[in-house]
Amino acid sequence: MEEKPSLLIIGNSNVGKSSITKLLLKDASQFKGKIGKNPGSTLLIKPIDQKNIPYKIIDLPGFGYAKSSSQRREIHIKQQIVSHIEKNHKQYFYSLVVINILRIEDEFKKYFYDNKETIPLTFELISFLTEFSLPILIIINKIDKLSNFDKNKIIKFLIDTSKEYGLNLIHLEKFKGDYSEAIPFLDFSALKKQNLGKLKVTINDLLNNYKKLEI
Ligand code: GDP
Repeated sequence: MEEKPSLLIIGNSNVGKSSITKLLLKDASQFKGKIGKNPGSTLLIKPIDQKNIPYKIIDLPGFGYAKSSSQRREIHIKQQIVSHIEKNHKQYFYSLVVINILRIEDEFKKYFYDNKETIPLTFELISFLTEFSLPILIIINKIDKLSNFDKNKIIKFLIDTSKEYGLNLIHLEKFKGDYSEAIPFLDFSALKKQNLGKLKVTINDLLNNYKKLEI
């Protein structure tokens, strides 16, 4: 039987990757969520493959720093993510970069004001994925935690900061489909299932495009 293409869901811990995965599965009861924390520094890459969905889901940590782990371990994990994507990028039809809307200002301000020489890890991750011509969707999750006013303010801040780093972010609804020109984002709430319909439509579209190219 033919291999199913994979959907990559990537982001730091606690941003909502497991919650989004559950929303995409037809049978979430079989999904046990996290398989427990990795005790060592070896990255556990376990695809979720259910018979009733036409793609696999692979959940990877982002380039960020988890509070609990040492910097050395984080660098080691990052190297493994990089080599995994270098080896396996062709099997991915779409990558969802998940970020927590409440963490955006913190992360970016830290880099932006304290050290203009380095780039925020989220941008580093996005630039890395685009090198492989992997279509990306940035999911700005947990929007239910903010008022509309604050949500729009932070999204504007994200778009403006991205420009400084040469990334052109555009809302999924305005995106024309050329990933070399812009990177789409979607404001999202896994808790309230906000924009889940739009997410499913775009995943299906990308899956169909990928299959067409395969033939
Ligand atoms: P992961 O570590 O990236 O897989 O994150 P999880 O899916 O385990 O979510 C981490 C925590 O955030 C859990 O307590 C979730 O219930 C919560 N969470 C996930 N998505 C949302 C969301 O859209 N809104 C809110 N308010 N909480 C969320």
